[in-house]
Amino acid sequence: MLKTVAVMSNKKTGPIAGTYRSGAHETYATCPKTCGLHPKSETGSEQIDPEYLAALLEAVPRRGIAWTYSHFDAKGLPMWEQGKTVINASCDTEAEAVAAVKIGRPATFAAPLNTADQWPKTVEGVKFVRCPADMSESFTCQQCGNGSPLCARGDRDFVVVFVAHGSGAKKVGTDQEGGCYAAQGPVAMQWHGTRKTGAANDAQALRAFAKSLPFGSMLRHHVAGDIGRDRIQC
Ligand code: SF4
Repeated sequence: MLKTVAVMSNKKTGPIAGTYRSGAHETYATCPKTCGLHPKSETGSEQIDPEYLAALLEAVPRRGIAWTYSHFDAKGLPMWEQGKTVINASCDTEAEAVAAVKIGRPATFAAPLNTADQWPKTVEGVKFVRCPADMSESFTCQQCGNGSPLCARGDRDFVVVFVAHGSGAKKVGTDQEGGCYAAQGPVAMQWHGTRKTGAANDAQALRAFAKSLPFGSMLRHHVAGDIGRDRIQC
């Protein structure tokens, strides 16, 4: 199920276009069951949805920018190509993030709570830099990187760090399941709503949405959700 928003009121992204993707019966069903932040990992997806992935890669606004994040194994994510959506490998450990960069995937790292003073740093020759919107309430993705947001740079050789926040933050970087930032607050409400009112043919809806956006738009795919195949198709 796909919900599309032409102008988001999300504090972190700023007023850019965005989407939410959920399963038909379970909100987290498009997220991989292997994701350490998934609060009910047994309900997660086991494989990438090829039809949706093909639509996602093409879903870039005309002369615009599109990016997203995935918790599927970085090795299974497509290499970035000019003009396509950038898919960041969302990593739960520094080692995973370093490995992702070394195989040519742009990577992000969900750092544990109370690590804010550790960044920037270099691990095995790979630089880790904190997301600027993480450090300022008034900074957004729309302002990031002078028109080239860091997460939308597919050929990036540094890792973007997000320090855990939200009510599940204590679980990030531990053996406890959960800690997903989208599990509470307004993002959770939008995401759960996607399950009930989103478009059932998500690939088709996404292609149409990207085409409908004005020239030069920024599109952040999956404020919540991932590229997995829902195990229970509606
Ligand atoms: S690094 Fe930039 S593009 Fe990425 S989430 Fe932070 S503000 Fe947005």
